[in-house]
Amino acid sequence: MGQGVDKWLWQSGTVTESFRVCDLRRELDCMPTIPETRVLKWISWLPKKINCFLWRVVLDGIPTREALATRRVPISSIRCVMCSRSVESADHLLISCEFAHQVWVAISQWIKVPMPRYMLSVIETLEYLDNLQQTNQMKRAAYLIVATACWSIWLARNQLIFKGTVPQLSKIVGEIKALSFLWINSRVESIKLDWKEWKEFKVAWASRL
Ligand SMILES: [Zn+2]
Repeated sequence: MGQGVDKWLWQSGTVTESFRVCDLRRELDCMPTIPETRVLKWISWLPKKINCFLWRVVLDGIPTREALATRRVPISSIRCVMCSRSVESADHLLISCEFAHQVWVAISQWIKVPMPRYMLSVIETLEYLDNLQQTNQMKRAAYLIVATACWSIWLARNQLIFKGTVPQLSKIVGEIKALSFLWINSRVESIKLDWKEWKEFKVAWASRL
């Protein structure tokens, strides 16, 4: 044993050197990443729990009926409680289910962005919006709205299962508009939205692409 102060060493390639966070970061930046992480972001515009929720959705970590069945949790049915037609996976419930589809049509009209005719997954939806020729602020708002919509559909699903409350499209779309307004206005200092304008999605986003 030496007499010096203990220190962390790590091996990068063939070189053993003192551990530095910046070296780790550089190494991670060079690694091929799974496609999900390219569009998954952690944005300060959203509360932590909603950021976490969206990550769990994309990484198949929310307790849908399909996920519970896969983990051998005894459940009476794996069918979607909203439509009873398909297996309740996260992507079905939040994107391709008839109810979710209606929510996305309403959001598409609200934010004046045409959505692809067939969307199959949350990650595809995020990728599509991320590739739009829009300013960074608008893309960030779109990301926030996707997260808010997924969260609201998930809550509506839970209320149907646990309280028997039948989801109403207009109520959920209203909640998505209200929550996204609240989060942007309370968390983003540089943006002050007007509720009447937000309801029409008339927002002058910063022009930088
Ligand atoms: Zn369904």
